Amino acid sequence: MDIKLIRDKFAEHFATEGELYTSPGRINLIGEHTDYNGGFVFPGAIDKAMVAEIKPNGTEKIRAYSVDLQDYAEFGLNEEDKPAASWACYIFGVAREILKRGGVVKGFDTAFAGDVPLGAGMSSSAALESTYAFALNHIFNEDKIDKFELARIGQSTEHNYCGVKCGIMDQFASVFGKKGNLMRLDCLSMDFEYFPFDPEKFGYRLVLLDSVVKHELVGSPYNRRRESCERVAAMLGQETLRGATMEKLDAIKDNISDEDYMRARYVIGEEKRVLDVCAALEAGDLETVGERMYQTHWGMSKDYEVSCEELDLLATIAKECGVTGSRIMGGGFGGCTINLVKSGLYDAFIATAKEKFCAAYGHEPKVYDVVISDGASKLEI
Ligand code: ADP
Ligand code: MG
Repeated sequence: MDIKLIRDKFAEHFATEGELYTSPGRINLIGEHTDYNGGFVFPGAIDKAMVAEIKPNGTEKIRAYSVDLQDYAEFGLNEEDKPAASWACYIFGVAREILKRGGVVKGFDTAFAGDVPLGAGMSSSAALESTYAFALNHIFNEDKIDKFELARIGQSTEHNYCGVKCGIMDQFASVFGKKGNLMRLDCLSMDFEYFPFDPEKFGYRLVLLDSVVKHELVGSPYNRRRESCERVAAMLGQETLRGATMEKLDAIKDNISDEDYMRARYVIGEEKRVLDVCAALEAGDLETVGERMYQTHWGMSKDYEVSCEELDLLATIAKECGVTGSRIMGGGFGGCTINLVKSGLYDAFIATAKEKFCAAYGHEPKVYDVVISDGASKLEI
């Protein structure tokens, strides 16, 4: 990350110096399509982040420069002042959401940049929101807003100013991230727990392979899956599928469609897999972690039917190369696989994946190495 460039651009635009704040993107090791089923997710913050230089300017206006997009925007703090540029809406939204909660935000100048790849599944938008939520809390609110509320401010920004009805995981991970730790978030109670996860210590690496494809399916596959889960939960007399078992599901098998059965089988399996992975991590057993990752991949592919042939190919190549674990990361239909690979196999795996994927689809996957890192913070210069 070129912090000097941010500082140079800030000085160029505003002829002064501010303070630096940062917040990262995230991965999710396991726990996919579990959030709306009252289950668990297991994210961690990564070593790719947004960095913003900020200084109050004594006015009621925000003046913002995006270093990466080389774009400038100026806007007020009232609801009707929403900027035209979509990147600026994230900053505006965070300011608005703090104000709506009774917090303080005054005008400020800012320049920002980041190295979280846009739209690759690492949540660059949450990194952006969390950077400003953290910073504006520190600058104008004496850190009085608690961290969970900072995450909610980012989530509400997506809902109310960016048109994305996301869950809380991305912003939660960006704010609460801790170096060398993943966080198991219970999406029902919102309790969470840190689990040490330091693959390098055990001779492993985490790498994402981005298929660079995004399949827009006809209809609304996401909503259809949610409805399947809701139907099965209702049949079981539960609010969500949380805590359902295969025995209970099999007992109602004849009363539900094959499709609903498959969807619920995936969700029930996934809830258990997250817990298995946590137990395996506590035992230092990364092989079991990897096995569960493959099971999640093929569950998402065959039972939940949210994979695509490009991602299935990447998981298949990983298996052939002896990679410990590999699976789709994110909702599916495109994006990345997340891979847990022994360091000694890394080079051969990447070379093979590039070659085979390119032979099939005419372009290489993008490769992103990730290290589990800290969440939002002020950078001391
Ligand atoms: P992601 O999955 O990475 O969060 P989104 O589509 O949710 O993808 O968010 C991407 C949007 O966030 C971009 O279109 C842009 O508006 C904003 N954004 C992310 N990173 C940057 C950046 N480095 N500079 C400016 N805007 C950014
Ligand atoms: Mg996003």
